[in-house]
Amino acid sequence: MQYLAAAGVGALTPIDDDAVDASNLQRQTIFAQSDIGRSKVAAARDWVARFDPALATRAVERRIGRDDATTVLDGHDLVVDGSDNFATRLAVSDACVGLRVPLVSAAVGRFQGQVGAFAGHLADQSCYRCFVGDAFDAEDCDSCAEDGMLGAMAGWAGSFAALQAVRVLLAGVGGLGDPQFGKLHVLDGLAPGLRTLRIAKDPACRGCSSA
Ligand SMILES: [Zn+2]
Repeated sequence: MQYLAAAGVGALTPIDDDAVDASNLQRQTIFAQSDIGRSKVAAARDWVARFDPALATRAVERRIGRDDATTVLDGHDLVVDGSDNFATRLAVSDACVGLRVPLVSAAVGRFQGQVGAFAGHLADQSCYRCFVGDAFDAEDCDSCAEDGMLGAMAGWAGSFAALQAVRVLLAGVGGLGDPQFGKLHVLDGLAPGLRTLRIAKDPACRGCSSA
């Protein structure tokens, strides 16, 4: 979020129902000790206001799901998803396809990250559901607290997601304007290395096959 604000993205809508916990601070560097116990989205909104008062931030303090994702995400040019469970990720992906809004999806665990841009509303492009399928609709990922994660790994995935988000926003403009839809970048923090996979559109996908 810091890099999107710094890039001049004029309106940001952080969405989260969580409060800042001490265990978040090593990887969620937008928060400080003094934010512990506060709403994450309110603390993020305050960070952006301090950084640049010209940016508009609307904090949405709720956990979005299948019933309200479309309403909450409507009106945005791009959605960047860093949620921690498949049910939310898939609800967000399906809403993006329905709203015809591109999605940058970012996930990180231990020493591996995954960042991809999707535009499943386009006839020749895959969505996030084409990538993970239907099996995960109700299954939660392991939490970072249980799994353990180096903060710098989350920072790499987060800043890489911001880079891919800027590509999407610049689509068609200049050297960075290739949105790279349907490409999933796998970040390996141990090697270190970066692999890129192509996610094909699944003709039977429940999320985007009718798009
Ligand atoms: Zn799909």
